[in-house]
Amino acid sequence: MKKPNINPTTKYYHKKYPPQHQKYPGLDGDMTPKPDCGEDTYIGHNRLAGRRALITGGDSGIGRAVAIAFAREGADVAISYLPAEQSDADEVRGLIESAGQRAFLIPGDISRESFCKKLITSAAKLMGGIDILVLNAGYQQYSDDIETLDTEQLEKTFAINLFSMFWMTRAAMPILTPGASIITTTSIQAYQPGKSLLDYAASKAAIMAFTKALAKQLAPKGIRVNGVAPGPIWTALQVAGGRATNTIPRFGMDTPIGRAGQPAELAGVYVLLASDESSYTTAEIYGVTGGDHTM
Ligand code: NAD
Ligand code: MG
Repeated sequence: MKKPNINPTTKYYHKKYPPQHQKYPGLDGDMTPKPDCGEDTYIGHNRLAGRRALITGGDSGIGRAVAIAFAREGADVAISYLPAEQSDADEVRGLIESAGQRAFLIPGDISRESFCKKLITSAAKLMGGIDILVLNAGYQQYSDDIETLDTEQLEKTFAINLFSMFWMTRAAMPILTPGASIITTTSIQAYQPGKSLLDYAASKAAIMAFTKALAKQLAPKGIRVNGVAPGPIWTALQVAGGRATNTIPRFGMDTPIGRAGQPAELAGVYVLLASDESSYTTAEIYGVTGGDHTM
């Protein structure tokens, strides 16, 4: 039976968003509308059977969509998140377990090297190893003026978005074996930086370089490293200081597709990059941008 064609411009929410603001890190559960992370739609095909995945920021948004998809593809999943996000994380635990997989919740602040090390060793101990490492957690606070962009924010942005990737990857090296896959989340901001996201865009460009260089270093060991560069995606990061509240209603409407993306629309790319089907793909960045493209 033919599956019906679905028009991407209207497949998901495509009206104006109600203006809203939350305190960082924000909750999916408090957003209107709630981001669609594929809870009711993602269908797995056993593509990650028996794998063990750690996903940072797996409580909400893109990380949550990836956690749902990985579990439905047969993987056990550990997620990291901040203690303030416990309610979102508890929901994800339920979704992973409903897929018949083991879920592990490891809260903590990845801007600290000591926690990054602990996160990797705990996840490996709980799952019996790590096969897929998704470095997805991120921090975005908009700031219109470099003169008021303080050093505290600059350091926080780089610690969470970039340094944590060095700390976690270093800690994971003794644990990862040939066939493992590392996936980073960068951004279209790495290619087309916005004037109000100086620190964030710079950190995302650095992630892109980190991803490609690490891929070259680890390829001989049989470990692949790729990145995903999302365009505007409806998540808590956007309403928790990621952009000015008055820009929320038209969020994503200037893309060629004409709407913001939903986290569910990212999951398939992470599944592909995690699975053996992409065994010859490394050092690549996949854009999912609604038509604004990366390179
Ligand atoms: P999100 O808020 O749902 O997820 C980000 C997660 O990062 C949070 O859930 C939180 O658990 C984690 N995090 C933040 N600070 C942390 C800290 N100090 N310690 C531990 N964890 C921390 O938003 P999202 O949009 O799904 O973000 C996921 C990734 O996607 C981020 O790297 C973000 O930069 C990137 N991204 C998002 C968009 C977008 O439009 N939403 C676009 C491009 C890239
Ligand atoms: Mg969250």
